[in-house]
Amino acid sequence: MDERVRSYIREHLDDGMAELKLLCASRSVSAQGEGRETAALVAERLSMRGMETRIASTPGNPVVFGEAPGRSDATLLIYNHYDVQPAEPLELWDSPPFEATVRGGQVFARGADDNKGHIASRLLMLDAYRAVHGEYPCRIKWVIEGEEEIGSLHLADFVHANADLIAADGCVWETGGVDPYDHPYLYLGLRGILYVELRCKTGTLDAHSGIGGSIFPNAAWRLVWALYAIKGPDERIRISGFYDAAWPATETDLAMLETLPEEESYLKEQYGLDRFLLNATGLELKRRALFEPTATVCGLSSGYQGPGSKTVLPAEAVAKMDFRLVPDMHPDAVFDALRRHLDANGFDDIELAHLGGEPPARVDPNDPVAQLMTRTAEEVYGREAHVWPFLGGSGPMHPFVHELGIPVVANGVGWPGGRPHAPNENIRIKDFQLGTEHMARFVEQFPSVAGDR
Ligand SMILES: [Zn+2]
Repeated sequence: MDERVRSYIREHLDDGMAELKLLCASRSVSAQGEGRETAALVAERLSMRGMETRIASTPGNPVVFGEAPGRSDATLLIYNHYDVQPAEPLELWDSPPFEATVRGGQVFARGADDNKGHIASRLLMLDAYRAVHGEYPCRIKWVIEGEEEIGSLHLADFVHANADLIAADGCVWETGGVDPYDHPYLYLGLRGILYVELRCKTGTLDAHSGIGGSIFPNAAWRLVWALYAIKGPDERIRISGFYDAAWPATETDLAMLETLPEEESYLKEQYGLDRFLLNATGLELKRRALFEPTATVCGLSSGYQGPGSKTVLPAEAVAKMDFRLVPDMHPDAVFDALRRHLDANGFDDIELAHLGGEPPARVDPNDPVAQLMTRTAEEVYGREAHVWPFLGGSGPMHPFVHELGIPVVANGVGWPGGRPHAPNENIRIKDFQLGTEHMARFVEQFPSVAGDR
């Protein structure tokens, strides 16, 4: 790696922290309608790095786009988001959430990790190239949206409408860093998600259970039966056709899973479990954790839940559910299949609301861009990279990978104690340094693999 670039990063960590403080001070809680000023600030910070910027309005928070030429025509796209989660509960913070505070080698603020720390790191990487070489190693495009924390409501529309603008040879995703074993971790995709609400109404008001118990329908029982029709104790999801589009793990996937650290005892201790579903262990547990699509009851409510007893027959019951989807399942297809399944099983009275969805995304582990990200991680961190076929969570990666055909890889400045979304969110400055150096090394070598695709 270019030693002058590396030295610049090490000598200018304070500038990176100052950038991070500036970003964190600009409130951008998308769930509370904030973010427009932050979009303008972010656009200004990109312009200062010689990027031509635009602020694309959407019905919600705008998308910021920046572009700058480089020594090579190879084009790298970067994706981040400038919005953050609410800071509440405020009383659990040890320092004000919107004033980034340094304590013991860590920076604390809402957004320090998710996702402004990653933006500040990438800005410092650009500064290093501008200062040392006066130009970037390749063309850089950067999409920074403002609604990731509320489901990226308008990002896919932006991507569809601007396919040529965004076109690139590779993309670096928003986040990454080190795992609990202090190894860099990478991921080559995300699971999809469908979020729904099921509502059962059997009458206009709750009844005395002595009057209605023998002759009135009970909303709570009906909802429980409907849920039982969706998944049974064998953990098999019963929706007709549910698994049709789900790819099983390949030999390559299993080989990747084999190299990942064993987390059984950690998870058991952390969550107070004595076993996993279907008593899975070893490689089978790792496979199930990612490659088994889910039907999770996230919340369930009906009737009386206070102290003591209340003999009531509820007229309404509600469940919230999410389905984590593996490639190539699609949330809209699952939603339609769920509706048909409920109807076919006598539950056409259950109201079903679509509360959001994102399709899964997956990049080929043999893609040269993916391999470069792994190789450069191992060079910078001096440790083996843990590469996940995809992560269990979800995000707006699908249109980039599967509509524009851009391989998406990850790098970052996070660590397992970073508490994203929680009070005292933080990053460690040493991870900020290594993550920035890793990004610089990847960008430096990116032109050599961009043409291989
Ligand atoms: Zn987040």
